[in-house]
Amino acid sequence: MKLVPGLQDSYNNGMFQAVRGTRDIFSPLVEEYVRLEAIARRLAAQWGFGEIRIPTFEEAGLFKRGVGETTDIVEKEMYVFEDRGERQLALRPEGTASVVRSYVENNMHQKEKNCRLFYVANMFRAERPQAGRYREFEQVGFEVFGDPGPLADAEIITLAWEIFKSFGLSDLRLSLNSIGCPECRGPYREKLETVLAQMISQLCEDCQNRHQKNPLRCLDCKKCSEKVRAQAPAFQLCAACQAHARIVEDLLGACGLTFVNDPSLVRGLDYYTRTVFEISSPVLGSQSAVCGGGRYDGLVELLGGPATPATGFALGVDRVVEARFKEKPPASPPLKEQAAFLVFVKAGPKAVEYGFGLAQRLRQKGVSVFCSSATDSIKSQMRQAGKSGAKYALMIGDDEFSKKQVLLKNLQDSSQATLSPEEVMTRLASPC
Ligand SMILES: [Zn+2]
Ligand SMILES: [Zn+2]
Repeated sequence: MKLVPGLQDSYNNGMFQAVRGTRDIFSPLVEEYVRLEAIARRLAAQWGFGEIRIPTFEEAGLFKRGVGETTDIVEKEMYVFEDRGERQLALRPEGTASVVRSYVENNMHQKEKNCRLFYVANMFRAERPQAGRYREFEQVGFEVFGDPGPLADAEIITLAWEIFKSFGLSDLRLSLNSIGCPECRGPYREKLETVLAQMISQLCEDCQNRHQKNPLRCLDCKKCSEKVRAQAPAFQLCAACQAHARIVEDLLGACGLTFVNDPSLVRGLDYYTRTVFEISSPVLGSQSAVCGGGRYDGLVELLGGPATPATGFALGVDRVVEARFKEKPPASPPLKEQAAFLVFVKAGPKAVEYGFGLAQRLRQKGVSVFCSSATDSIKSQMRQAGKSGAKYALMIGDDEFSKKQVLLKNLQDSSQATLSPEEVMTRLASPC
């Protein structure tokens, strides 16, 4: 692909700007992202999941098939491009299709009866930017392959719940539904098609086009779902699906999880089966869903693998972090007990070398040592020391260098002591 000369870009304003729908993430947000990822990884290990790193882009066809050609994600939001070899590629809009592609491609079904994978990855969708929605966003996803039973469903729901609880979210809602299997959905689909045909003029353009090809999608169309659900026939689960749903509920109860049954929770694609769930955080307002998942028994086969039951979920890291900040705004950054700020007091080159060497040895002992450029004024260095959160200032000048000493100042109570480098090392390296 050629860069088109003269094409409008934000540099025309004299500088570049982040692309619409993307953003830079700074501290203290970054620390919360890292903390959430660490919790997800710790719990993944406890639950027996192995991490998988998936590619940032795949063949566009994978998502057309794996996410669904009639979905908004694929029809309107996917970043599709042609590479230099004229292949149709797409930035991943979600993770499951890639994980399933890998599962099939690497014959994982032959290696492990019950295969459990998780990922931490950024996704890309050209959605209309709005509060809490970005075109590049992060998801953590968990997938279980090879287990058709309700226990696997209950396990992934409990795992999602545990991640949020460990992260410190307290106000959460769990909604649960079963969308049945092909057996109970077949007759329902026919009835729904008839109803949709009768109300065709009230449907949006998308639904008018897909009401025959994929009538179930009209149930979760953003524009039509309310109208359609009001007139849609009641859905009846078959006996096997009823039993499955009942066991999932009982198992969640055994872990003390409360939930609401929400019949409006649907997935309008054929490869989804039975369990569907969503976890939401009311502090986020209208865009409150932080996690969604469920069973997708038909997807592995659809993507060329052997018929394999599967269940999983993905959580939106950006929204979870936002919910956490809304529930509990961060306090001022904590004092860094094992940290010192190196302040040079009229120090010549030899004294600077002496301080620089000491800082290095302290860091090797696990102490954090920050410093300025050594050319700043003492006043400026002390101001930076205060802002850094360090508990101590290591004051070094020519006098300290010639006596091989350090003036250690406690920035909290302003007490100070002249110590040898070894004494400083002992005092800072071991927590008091
Ligand atoms: Zn069924
Ligand atoms: Zn519609």
